[in-house]
Amino acid sequence: MSGSTITPWVVGNWKMNPMQSDSQQLIQSLKQYLQAGPIDVAQCRIAVAPTAIALLSVQQQLQDAAVEVLTVAQDLSRVAGTGAYTGEVSAELLKDSAIHYVLIGHSERRELFGDDVSQITAKVTHALNAGLQIIYCVGESLEQREQGLAEQVVLQQICDLSSVVKAEQWQNIKIAYEPIWAIGTGKTASPEDAQAMHEKIRAGLKQLTGYGQDIAILYGGSVKADNAEALAACPDINGALVGGASLQAESFYKIAQAFAQTKH
Ligand code: PEP
Repeated sequence: MSGSTITPWVVGNWKMNPMQSDSQQLIQSLKQYLQAGPIDVAQCRIAVAPTAIALLSVQQQLQDAAVEVLTVAQDLSRVAGTGAYTGEVSAELLKDSAIHYVLIGHSERRELFGDDVSQITAKVTHALNAGLQIIYCVGESLEQREQGLAEQVVLQQICDLSSVVKAEQWQNIKIAYEPIWAIGTGKTASPEDAQAMHEKIRAGLKQLTGYGQDIAILYGGSVKADNAEALAACPDINGALVGGASLQAESFYKIAQAFAQTKH
């Protein structure tokens, strides 16, 4: 039990996985776990972020889940509306397809696909203006951590965000702290280190907005069924963004269960 009144969120980031038949099995299996042991949405919100091509079929497949599972886009265009932008999916197109949530600024997008501050802030602007809710990812590299720059880097990323968020839009934002060195590496930040950074992010958010106390800050980076409880026990960790372990229904379910139980 932690003191926070924020409902935890556990979000599976499927990245560029899986093939369609595996995706169907994964959802089927997740639905079976939720049927056998429903997790109250007031105790933990569960969401999955499939590939763009699978968003609508996954959303459709989840319609009859025993517990509402939200569908999240992994990214969106830095261009708004509709038009001659080959390969792009805008905030408005997501909204039009009833996809109400989107990840922005994942480190893989920043590092591998050239998402710089101007692109990320454009994405934030369009998503929020279209009425989407965003999960904004921040995190430092190993080199930055070793140089003692972790806090500075992460708080700068929060400042980048705040430069484009209007006062009332803060309620549509969640933060995911994902130290880059912990993503997909099996190295999790210790609960103490993660909590310390979350506390700094919380303090930064409180300076920026009256909603600061209520913004969910998720942790991401090799979250697994066996470390979820310790992370969930930290007061400023309000959920998890889960990569690898979200591709197995059992481990993903157990992570959500750990947050639901530990936070209530
Ligand atoms: C992620 O990419 O968001 C992530 C946290 O991945 P993993 O859980 O595999 O480290």
